[in-house]
Amino acid sequence: MAEIIDGKAIAAEMRQQIAADTQELIGQGITPGLAVVLVGEDPASRVYVSMKEKACDAAGIYSVEHKLAAETSEAELLELVANLNDDEKIDGILVQLPLPEHIDEAQVLEAISPNKDVDGFHPYNVGRLVTGNPVFQSCTPYGVMKMLEHAGVELKGKEVVVVGRSNIVGKPVALMCLAEHATVTICHSRTVDLQQKVAAADVVIAAVGRPEMIKGDWIKKGAVVIDVGVNRVGEKKLVGDVEFVAACENAAAITPVPGGVGPMTITMLLYNTLLSAKRRAGQPG
Ligand code: NDP
Repeated sequence: MAEIIDGKAIAAEMRQQIAADTQELIGQGITPGLAVVLVGEDPASRVYVSMKEKACDAAGIYSVEHKLAAETSEAELLELVANLNDDEKIDGILVQLPLPEHIDEAQVLEAISPNKDVDGFHPYNVGRLVTGNPVFQSCTPYGVMKMLEHAGVELKGKEVVVVGRSNIVGKPVALMCLAEHATVTICHSRTVDLQQKVAAADVVIAAVGRPEMIKGDWIKKGAVVIDVGVNRVGEKKLVGDVEFVAACENAAAITPVPGGVGPMTITMLLYNTLLSAKRRAGQPG
């Protein structure tokens, strides 16, 4: 049976350390600060923003929320971002996506100072990741890497198969694994014989968004499985992209859904905000 990689426990341990480091920094006169910008009334976005605020509070990080009406113009939003770029109390700026249709998302993300881009979505930060010299790494893929590290999974020389090629999960996590000297294959909706690719993997990272599409018997004996997918089935049940119970028969270690990658994303947002504040304090990070 597979070892369960417990995202909740890893996140809790990391958040304790983040809170301790935050107190130390506050003692030196620097309070880490995060600004979260929410445009419109999207219910899921509201939940995420309130979770981020609560997590900041618990870690002792100063957070300020800017709730803007859905009709806010792109120019008004860009002006707010410019003000936050100049605000000395703010180390991290997060614009909650998706934005209303009349606003050009790329334009807004590019307006955030790369030095405060704690989501790691600015093209500058994407470029720094590609060239192997990252400044801020995106929260979900970075969370995956921290989980692998905590589980003691050495990536050097391993065959990693990433299923999914989105800008927020698949591509960045593939680059992060490459930086750890894995041999990386990226699969997507046009990949021919996905099963064969997955079956050859020492580490499978699934980020698709299709309930249990990766079957348990595809997983090689002794492989490690990281399931980023979150899929609602029926009223209340959440499942991942991997058929969990069957995959446990073959995997050496696996993340559950829920309680796997999910709790790591906000943890890495706190981590990046603290990192940014440490840099403001002149400490290497
Ligand atoms: P996207 O929809 O942006 O990307 C999905 C990817 O899966 C695409 O690259 C797509 O390929 C690929 N894909 C779709 N169907 C297949 C298929 N049949 N076979 C192989 N590949 C396929 O999703 P995200 O990357 O944003 O999210 C992926 C999952 O991760 C979702 O369930 C999401 O909810 C979850 N997630 C969880 C987070 C967390 O905090 N735990 C954070 C972010 C996401 P193509 O490019 O060819 O279309």
